[in-house]
Amino acid sequence: MSGNITFTIIKPFAVSDGHIGPILNKIHTAGFKISAMRMLWLTQGEAERFYEVHKERPFYSDLVEFMTSGPIVVAVLKKENAVADYRKLIGATDPEKAEEGTIRKEFARSLRENAVHGSDSDENAAFEGSFFFSGLQRF
Ligand code: ATP
Ligand code: MG
Repeated sequence: MSGNITFTIIKPFAVSDGHIGPILNKIHTAGFKISAMRMLWLTQGEAERFYEVHKERPFYSDLVEFMTSGPIVVAVLKKENAVADYRKLIGATDPEKAEEGTIRKEFARSLRENAVHGSDSDENAAFEGSFFFSGLQRF
C-alpha cells in the first residue's frame, strides 16, 4: 500500500526568485496538507549527507554546490498516495520536458535549478522527512 507522506524542498533559486508563495499555493490547491515546514541554509556536509544516494552520479558535486548556494524551504506533505501524486504535480526533472501546469514547468530555471525536490519512494520520503524534522515538529 502506498504511504500518505512525501517530502519536498523549495530549492535556492525558487526561493530567491520569490516563488515560495506561488509554489505553496499549488501544493495547497492539489490537496496536500503541510505536516512540517521550515526555512534553512544547508551546510556542505548536510547537503552531502542528504544527497548521499547520488554520490556516484556525475552531477553530485554540482548539485551539492547548488543546494548550498542559498536558503531553502523544506516540508513534509500529507495526502493519500503522496509520493506519486507529488511527483506528478512537480513534473519531469528536466523542466523542458515537464508538462504544462507543473511546478517545474512554471518555476524552474534549468535541469539543475529545477525549483523543487520531491521524494521518489515511501522509504526515501520517510528518510528525508526524518533528516529535517523530529516527531515533535510534525503535525
Ligand atoms: P529530486 O530528487 O530533486 O526530486 P529528481 O528525482 O527528479 O529530482 P534526480 O535524478 O533524483 O531527479 O536528481 C536529483 C537532482 O539533481 C535534480 O532534481 C536536479 O536538481 C539535479 N540533477 C539531475 N540531473 C542533473 C544533471 N544531469 N545535471 C545537473 N544537475 C542534475
Ligand atoms: Mg530524486
